[in-house]
Amino acid sequence: VDCNLAPYTSEHGEVKGVVTVLHDITAIRRLEKIRSEFVANVSHELKTPITSIKGFAETLLDGAMDDPQVRRNFLEIIYTESERLHRLVNDLLDLSKIEQRKVPLRKEQVRIYELIYDIYQHLQEKVNRKKIEFHFPSQHDITVEGDKDRLHQILVNLIDNAISYTSEDGTVSVDVVDHGNEVEISVADTGIGIPLRDRERIFERFYRVDKGRSRESGGTGLGLAIVKHLVDAHHGRIIVESEEGKGSRFRVFFPRNTKT
Ligand code: ADP
Repeated sequence: VDCNLAPYTSEHGEVKGVVTVLHDITAIRRLEKIRSEFVANVSHELKTPITSIKGFAETLLDGAMDDPQVRRNFLEIIYTESERLHRLVNDLLDLSKIEQRKVPLRKEQVRIYELIYDIYQHLQEKVNRKKIEFHFPSQHDITVEGDKDRLHQILVNLIDNAISYTSEDGTVSVDVVDHGNEVEISVADTGIGIPLRDRERIFERFYRVDKGRSRESGGTGLGLAIVKHLVDAHHGRIIVESEEGKGSRFRVFFPRNTKT
């Protein structure tokens, strides 16, 4: 609280009282803090791949280039890190557009099964590599009224996370249920789970339960923040259920017939 004190006196100079003006500046301070933390986070996230790219390129130029094996290895690292940088910048730009509501939603009836099938095909290589058992929804005809590309983005993020945070031979199940007034899409995995204390915070930008693991899986820490914003834009809601070491289930609910 910002506080101004002004004493007022009688004509003889004796203090008769004090006028106190109180401004509630907690909200402003909080926003300033969030903003500066965000800038610090972005800088840090950008710095990590840049340092790595710079270091490996330097070592190559200093002579490591002469060994073909080392050269290939270092170039692969440089490529992976620049890809991460690319993803990070794309996600940041996307998030800022979504947050400023600069993303118009082109609504139509979207068949969820088809969307999931499409996503599966994109992620199939990763599913096979990790020997993950993938379950499709049993219902084929359920639709959600929304923007197809944005619904795709929501589900890619959830399904990609489910695969990333599940060890080999695990299971990822996607389901669609029509509850009448709402359609629920759930993505469940048999992975590492999310501790209770982190569950509320994973939708924050750059919040990760385990930084090392997220980075290893190529994560930017922005996926769920984007998901949350896009679900909100569709007037939906998202909840997460999880048990550490057993798995997680993200459930997204979309209202039927949103009239906006
Ligand atoms: P990231 O790019 O790090 O995956 P996200 O915003 O998508 O960023 O997710 C934030 C964090 O939430 C992740 O770093 C991870 O710790 C946790 N998380 C997300 N999905 C899952 C999941 N299915 N199982 C376990 N942890 C998850």
